[in-house]
Amino acid sequence: MSEALANPSAPSVIWLQGSGCTGCTISFLNYVSATAPQSAADILITNINLLYHPNLSAAAGSTVADVIAKAVAAGNFILIVEGGVPTAFGGRACAPWSEGGVEVTFLAAVQRLAAKALKVVCVGNCASFGGVSASGSNPTAVQSVKVATGKTTINVAGCPPHPDWIVWTLVQLLQGKTIAVDTYGRPKTLYSKRIHDICPFREADEAKTFGVAGRCLEELGCRGPSTYANCPTNKWNNGVNWCIGAGAPCIGCTSSTFPGTSALFKTAS
Ligand code: SF4
Repeated sequence: MSEALANPSAPSVIWLQGSGCTGCTISFLNYVSATAPQSAADILITNINLLYHPNLSAAAGSTVADVIAKAVAAGNFILIVEGGVPTAFGGRACAPWSEGGVEVTFLAAVQRLAAKALKVVCVGNCASFGGVSASGSNPTAVQSVKVATGKTTINVAGCPPHPDWIVWTLVQLLQGKTIAVDTYGRPKTLYSKRIHDICPFREADEAKTFGVAGRCLEELGCRGPSTYANCPTNKWNNGVNWCIGAGAPCIGCTSSTFPGTSALFKTAS
C-alpha cells in the first residue's frame, strides 16, 4: 500500500465536514494494520498529500481559503466529504471558513469543490444519504452531497464506516483505479455481501432477550437480513469484535435508509 500511495503525481486530498458528529473521522483515526502504513498517522504524514482537514489541520481562516483556492485552480484533488449538507437558511447553518470577511457556507463550499474534484467520496451515511443529520424533522434541511451538488459520489456508507473501508477506497482512487459501485453508490467490493448470509449465528437458536451470547438476534430486531457490509468477517477495533458478536443487533447503519423512522431495534419484552 505504501508503494501505491508513494506516487508523486497522485492527487491531493481535501476533507470537509458538514452536518455530522465527527465520528467518521474518529473511525478513520482508528485505522490499524499489521503492514505499512500501520496507522492513520502513517497515512496522513507519509502517504497522502492532505491539503485540509478541519480537525487535523493546523490551518484556519484565510490560510484555509488560500489552500482551497489553489486546489480548485489546480484541479488535481479528491474531495472527501463527511457530514450532510444543510440547505435551509441559505445554507448558513454551517459555514466552514470565511473569505474576505464573508462566511462561506458548507453548501457553497461543497458545490464549488465537487465541481472541480477528480472524485467525490462521501465518508459516512450523512454525506452519502443524509443519515442521522437528515432524520426526524431535519430543521436545517440536510441533504446528501449528491443531492446538494448533482455530482456522482462514491459512498463509503456506515455510521461510522469501518476505517478499512475508508482507506481501501482512498487507495483505489490514489492508484487511479475505477471503483465499481452498487445502486447506492457504495463500492461493491465492500458492500456486496448481506450480513445475514455471512453471520456466524445464522444457524444458532434465536435469542429472546438481550444479554445472551451466541444466539441469532433476529427476533430482537436485528437488521442483518437487510444490511450489506463485511462486518462479520472484517470485524471492528482491529478485528476484536463486531456489533452482533458483542450481543447487539445490527442496526443497519450502511443502508441508505438508516436510521429510518422506527426504533433501531426492538426492545426486549
Ligand atoms: Fe441474521 Fe442478525 Fe441472526 Fe446474524 S444475528 S443470523 S445477521 S438475524
